[in-house]
Amino acid sequence: MRILITGGAGFLGSHLCDRLITDGHEVVCLDNLFTGRKENITHLLQHPRFEFVRHDVVDPFKFEVDQIYNLACPASPPHYQYNPIKTTKTSVMGAINCLGLAKRVKARVFQASTSEVYGDPAMHPQREEYWGHVNPIGRRSCYDEGKRCAETLFFDYHRENKVDIRVIRIFNTYGPRMLAHDGRVVSNFIVQALKGEDLTIYGDGTQTRSFCFVDDLIEGFVRFMNQTEIVGPMNCGNPGEFTMLQLAELTLKLVGGKGKIVFKPLPSDDPKQRQPDISLARRVIKWEPQVPLEEGLGRTIAYFRKQIS
Ligand code: NAD
Ligand code: UDP
Repeated sequence: MRILITGGAGFLGSHLCDRLITDGHEVVCLDNLFTGRKENITHLLQHPRFEFVRHDVVDPFKFEVDQIYNLACPASPPHYQYNPIKTTKTSVMGAINCLGLAKRVKARVFQASTSEVYGDPAMHPQREEYWGHVNPIGRRSCYDEGKRCAETLFFDYHRENKVDIRVIRIFNTYGPRMLAHDGRVVSNFIVQALKGEDLTIYGDGTQTRSFCFVDDLIEGFVRFMNQTEIVGPMNCGNPGEFTMLQLAELTLKLVGGKGKIVFKPLPSDDPKQRQPDISLARRVIKWEPQVPLEEGLGRTIAYFRKQIS
């Protein structure tokens, strides 16, 4: 197949490019390189089935493709809050442009949605039926509401225009190719520990997240995209739930070094807990994460050790 990946030079997008090239497809990677990097795809640039296009998803685009994966959007809070209006435009206009293209060329189109659509959840663990608890006017809203509106657009194009959609809700995912200055917790802790700096916990560290290793997530993407039983939304993530304090302690144990834990103010609207209910993914795509946190962190630490040295 000929497959378009928006945000293909980013952390998740570049791993998806690798996977789809390995599976024998032609890949068009579209990215404006806001948080993505050419280094993530350098090894693919000379490949005969790979093409990189520098373009912004806010502006319309045309490609003759069979499938579209829409991943373009900064995912780390400091990056999506850097220009919040642009973040909302990226999610909303990006979705409209992908859906318009999918309608025209009859491509199947995948939306990388997020656990952030559940906000600071009152239901735990989060199931797909839960409508969420999201502040519409806070610092995280540009991302959360942008992604919620993108889901709305996907389902309206599906109902009104019979566009063949797949909507997946991704929970915190980590691994090689995250940016060292990304601002998300796993890369922050690892880079701080490797540099012998103190690990910065925001708040008291009792808030929880569930961390999925990137290889597991990409397997979930491909299985979900290529089944025809459901269009979603479907949760995809690792149900193992950890406090930020546990994550900091585990990182220090694995990296060694002399950093210690320090506490910083908690950003506003920071969700207190997050854990996916993945019963739907287990049933429909027979999917379950395979990489435990300690092993995935070890592989991510090895990547950053090389980057930093
Ligand atoms: P990332 O920041 O590494 O990747 C996003 C990519 O999109 C980057 O390459 C960036 O340059 C590109 N991009 C941003 N704005 C663009 C625009 N206007 N036009 C074209 N390209 C643009 O983040 P990631 O972790 O790889 O996330 C990929 C997708 O998955 C995002 O949509 C994100 O919301 C979603 N997601 C990720 C996670 C996670 O834990 N990694 C969790 C939930 C959802
Ligand atoms: N966090 C932290 N220290 C950091 C970066 C983040 O304690 O250096 C916390 C953050 O406040 C949040 C959790 O870790 O409670 C996960 O943050 P991240 O930005 O990775 O993802 P999100 O909040 O979007 O799930």
